[in-house]
Amino acid sequence: MFTAFLIKYAEIGVKGKNRYLFEEALVKQIRYALKRCEGEFSVTRTPGRIYVEAASDFDYDETIDNLKTVFGISGICPMVHVEDEGFEKLGEAVVKYMDDVYPDKHFSFKVQARRARKNYPLNSMELNVELGAVILDAFPELTVDVHKPDVMLNVEIREKIYLYSEVIPGPGGMPVGSNGKAMLLLSGGIDSPVAGYMIAKRGVKIDAVYFHAPPYTSDRAKQKVVDLARQVSRYAGPIYLHVINFTDIQLYIYEKCPHDELTIIMRRYMMKIAEQIARETECLALITGESIGQVASQTVQSLGVTNEVCTLPVFRPLIGFDKMEIVDVSEKIGTYETSILPYEDCCTIFVAKHPVTKPNLNIIKRHEQNLEEKIDELMKTALETDEVIIVKEE
Ligand code: ATP
Ligand code: MG
Repeated sequence: MFTAFLIKYAEIGVKGKNRYLFEEALVKQIRYALKRCEGEFSVTRTPGRIYVEAASDFDYDETIDNLKTVFGISGICPMVHVEDEGFEKLGEAVVKYMDDVYPDKHFSFKVQARRARKNYPLNSMELNVELGAVILDAFPELTVDVHKPDVMLNVEIREKIYLYSEVIPGPGGMPVGSNGKAMLLLSGGIDSPVAGYMIAKRGVKIDAVYFHAPPYTSDRAKQKVVDLARQVSRYAGPIYLHVINFTDIQLYIYEKCPHDELTIIMRRYMMKIAEQIARETECLALITGESIGQVASQTVQSLGVTNEVCTLPVFRPLIGFDKMEIVDVSEKIGTYETSILPYEDCCTIFVAKHPVTKPNLNIIKRHEQNLEEKIDELMKTALETDEVIIVKEE
C-alpha cells in the first residue's frame, strides 16, 4: 500500500548554506543506500523536506532497512499516495488508510493537513475538521485528541495527495560528506569498526588504513578487515582502504628495541604512517578504536605517548566506553560476528608478556634512536607499496 516515504531530519544547527550542503549530502547518501534495494526510486527535495518515491515495485522491508543506514535521517514516514479526485474520494481513502494501518480501533487521533498546493478548495483547518468527521463517522469507537493523540494522521496536499501517520526511527546523526573526511586505523578487532561508524555518524567521510604483516598475519586476516570495511561502508559510503605492509618495520623494531616497548613503538609508527597517508588524501583527522585502560597500550600514559607523533587531531570516539558497550554497538551495526573470527591481527604476533603500561616518552624516544639507520627507508617503502582497495556495499 505504501508507495513513498517522507524523510525527516533534525534541522538544529543546520541553517543557511550549511542546510543546503546538509540536504545535498543527505540526498546523495539516500540514493547510495537505495541502490542496494530492488526497484527504482526517485529522491526529491523541496525546502525542508525530502521525499523518496517508488517508481516501480519494491520490497518494503528491504527499503526501510537500507534507509535506516543513512545518517542524518531522524525518521522515515511511509506514505500512501491518493489521486486528487475530489473530497469524497479523499475521505474514502483516509477511512481505508485508518482501517488498513490500525485494525484495532481503540485509540485517539488527530488529522493534521498541510496544504502545500494553495489552489486546493479546502484549507488546512477545514480539511482537519472535515476529515476528522469522516473518520469518526466510519469508526465511532475512535476518539479525537488534539493535544496528545495516539495517532497523528498527516494529510499532505501537493501535486498528489499523501497520507502518513507512522514514523520509523532513523539512525540520527548527520549525512556523510557534510563534515569532511578522516582516516580510520582499521584492524580486525571489535573496536575500530565501531569507532569508524561513530565518526561517520557525525557526517564525516571515512578512509581507512590497515597494517598487515605477512606472513605473520594471514590473507584471511586481511580479508576480514576488507569485510569489516564493507560492513562499515553500508553506513559510511564507499571506503578507500589502504593496506600497508608493516612486516619489515615490525621486524626492525623487534630487532632493535626492548620487547616490553614493542607495542607502543609499533603503535607510534602506525600513527605516523596513517598521518602521512591522511595528509596525502585530504583527511583532516585520524580515528582509532582506543578506550582508556583496555590494554597496556591504552593506558592514559600510553595514549599520550602514541599521540605525541601526530599533529592531526586524533578522534577516539570509544575513549570512555566499556567493552560491553562497544560490543552492543558492534552487534547493532552488524560487525560483531566478523570481528570475533579468530584470525590474528598484526599486534597479536609480537606481543610481549609484560608490556609497559606507563611508558616514558623520553625513554621511548631514546630507544627509537636505535631505528635511525633504516626506519626512514622502511617507512618510505611501506608507503610506496600502499595497496588501495575501494570497498563498498553493492
Ligand atoms: P581493535 O578491537 O580495534 O582491534 P584493540 O582493542 O585490539 O582494538 P589495539 O590492538 O591496541 O586495540 O589497537 C588500538 C587501535 O589501534 C585500534 O582500535 C585501531 O584503531 C588501531 N590498530 C591496531 N592495530 C591495527 C592494524 N593492524 N591496522 C590498523 N589499525 C590498527
Ligand atoms: Mg586489535
